[in-house]
Amino acid sequence: MNPSVNRRDVLKSAAAGALTLWVPRLLKAQQPVTKLTNSLSVIDAGGANVTALSTGQGFVLVDSGAPKTGDTVMAALNSLTPNGKVQTLFNTHYHLDQTANNERFAAQGAKIISQKRTREWMATDYWVPAEERYEKARPTAALPTETFLTRGSMKAGNEEIAYGYLLMAHTSGDLYVHFKGANVIAVGDVASPLRDPELDWFTGAWVGGRSDSMDLLLSISNDQTRFVPAYGAVMSKAQFKAERDMMEEVRQRIFDRVRAGEGPQDMLAGGALDGLPRKWKDPLKFLYAAAKGGWAYYDKLGENVV
Ligand SMILES: [Zn+2]
Repeated sequence: MNPSVNRRDVLKSAAAGALTLWVPRLLKAQQPVTKLTNSLSVIDAGGANVTALSTGQGFVLVDSGAPKTGDTVMAALNSLTPNGKVQTLFNTHYHLDQTANNERFAAQGAKIISQKRTREWMATDYWVPAEERYEKARPTAALPTETFLTRGSMKAGNEEIAYGYLLMAHTSGDLYVHFKGANVIAVGDVASPLRDPELDWFTGAWVGGRSDSMDLLLSISNDQTRFVPAYGAVMSKAQFKAERDMMEEVRQRIFDRVRAGEGPQDMLAGGALDGLPRKWKDPLKFLYAAAKGGWAYYDKLGENVV
């Protein structure tokens, strides 16, 4: 027997083995829907999560997906309920990754609900300090058609939905959507298991608001509640609580350091984020935003303030 033929056969069968392993993984990667219950699913829309409730009267969505994901989201919805229409779309906040497909669902006649501040940010040109540029206002067709200040509720099919304002947690207009029957809360970017937590300090967001908002979310949950973040896998209550505890530790450290007159560079050099159960990809960016927010809320930092 020619040993080189043998070797080629071995390589061929190894390649075939690799292919059979690889194909299911590829198919899995192309399947963007994760079912949480019979009627509630999470769709991966360009890395950003879209939560979809199927009801007899159409879909209720939380967030519409990142830019250029319209076809992906539509195909995913079609796989859940063929030809189903979106009746109601919530925007957890104004960022493009959460609102890019608004126009598409508005054209289907969807009602778009947001906190009042979110609509205001979407309706105006605004300065993005970190990038030194203006972001253009969104077209009228993309804007929320219904806003609220503090909270609201609705019924969709058999599901009771409660929604409310998360004060200054990630932007100035964050909301949560609580699917009570499914025991799932979509929390937008107020939980950040995958990416660095972000604070749009120029809108008013700060670590105090983030920490308080996570407490509010815990207060309306129970041990079986699942949390859908803006990016990344659905979180258990224990995972959400762990991020809240980490953020509360960060809040205390930032308060102390702002009161001591430190800026973000001082905070980084002084180890403000050291020893935490997560690593930041860009710690200075977070500390810059946290320090800016801390200065803006200087009168709320504690009893030592004159
Ligand atoms: Zn965001």
